[in-house]
Amino acid sequence: MRVLRLDLNSNSWKIEDTAAQGPVTLGVRIHNEAKTWNLDPLDPSAPFILGMGPFIGGKMPGFHRLIAVFKSPMTRTLHVAALGGAAYKFMGAGIDAVVITGRARKPVVVFMSSDGIELKDTDPVFEYGGYHAPMPSRSTSSTRTGTSSLSIMQGPWLWAQALSTYNGALVSIDVNPAKGEFRPGAEDFAARGGPGTALAMGHNVVGIVAGGTYRARYAKVTDMDFINKVMIESFKKPFRQVMDEKTVKYRFDPSMGTGGTFGVNYPHYRELLPLFGYKSIYLPREVRIQHVEAILRLFWKPFNDEVFVKSKSWYNCGDFGCSVVCKKVWRGKKVDYEPFHAMGPFIGNYIFEEAVPLVDLIDQYGLDAIEMGHVVAWVFDTIEHGLLRPEEVGISDKPIFDPMKFNPEVDSHKNARLAKEVISGFIEKSSEVLRLIAENGIRVAARKLDEIFHDRA
Ligand code: SF4
Repeated sequence: MRVLRLDLNSNSWKIEDTAAQGPVTLGVRIHNEAKTWNLDPLDPSAPFILGMGPFIGGKMPGFHRLIAVFKSPMTRTLHVAALGGAAYKFMGAGIDAVVITGRARKPVVVFMSSDGIELKDTDPVFEYGGYHAPMPSRSTSSTRTGTSSLSIMQGPWLWAQALSTYNGALVSIDVNPAKGEFRPGAEDFAARGGPGTALAMGHNVVGIVAGGTYRARYAKVTDMDFINKVMIESFKKPFRQVMDEKTVKYRFDPSMGTGGTFGVNYPHYRELLPLFGYKSIYLPREVRIQHVEAILRLFWKPFNDEVFVKSKSWYNCGDFGCSVVCKKVWRGKKVDYEPFHAMGPFIGNYIFEEAVPLVDLIDQYGLDAIEMGHVVAWVFDTIEHGLLRPEEVGISDKPIFDPMKFNPEVDSHKNARLAKEVISGFIEKSSEVLRLIAENGIRVAARKLDEIFHDRA
């Protein structure tokens, strides 16, 4: 692998060839050598690795994920997070992985292109649609990135927030270098584990812009005859047929009349779905069945009618001609099970239309939606059980978080409104409770709150 080693303490870098199967092998080895089990996740000595596998640039979709290997500020252990089809542009820089250590004195953006490497102090904020993020100016993006480019920035939101919350995501947005502007529609997130926070708070890197003229590393990945030969030897079928069969769930499952993770998981898992911050595991099966009937009617059906019955708004992630088109889009919003469930039944909201702006808000803040589901559910649960009061959290009312007393048509609206207050308060650190969670995560915050509220906790 061609690896860029960037030392931000000395503002220096070198490129070296290293034998490694891919970014995970490389990342685990580097963390092992650095003994990062002894380090705080935000210690600048803990390396942040971002790289791609060897089969990029070919005719096989699904091989263009960018992989981050880092010490997670959320789990405090080694974490691997994957980001959409971003490697398709990243490969143009001619670098297979970047290893970042040290901490820049000011927030920097790393430019990697076939023209070379450059570090630039960042302008504070670049606005793109609803996204607010630390970015270099348009002209800087366009002049440094050759014929194709990709920007990766990490949230959440304004960099002042990115540098002070524990679960910021990596966000990638395609760039049109000819026009010097962002190209909307192929945004991708690597959010699990808080890689944005690790990069921003650990190393003071607030953006990476990558692209250029390099293409596939191996000619064979563009040779469809060779690919089909390998597939027929292993599966007795050509590549496209294997892909279509193995990805039925993500494209369209005719036996269920739906597709994608959101479409399939609800009618498939039914009463096994986790509801109300996992409280559903204590409910009798017949009660869970009543809940899932409401969820299918109010949460799943509006999506399914629009995306599968009335129209067919299915797209791919921007990865080379992927026929799976797993991105199911409801009125312009990509709908996946995990973020929507996190802002839906998991927090006591069974109305699909209420979940859409909440997921949007979290995306715009550059946060991990699954984790924010845990934060909201946890906060709601503490209030439900009288451990915290709404005014201590900084929200305007008490949520309805007892599934036995929950009226889906009425209470969903209230819970969604209060969830928005929790998310905004988390970013703004509007109360001591939300500040503790935003800076430390739920587990550490819970211990601190035990001390603060020792009379009730
Ligand atoms: S469209 Fe979906 S299945 Fe196809 S490469 Fe992109 S993420 Fe993977």
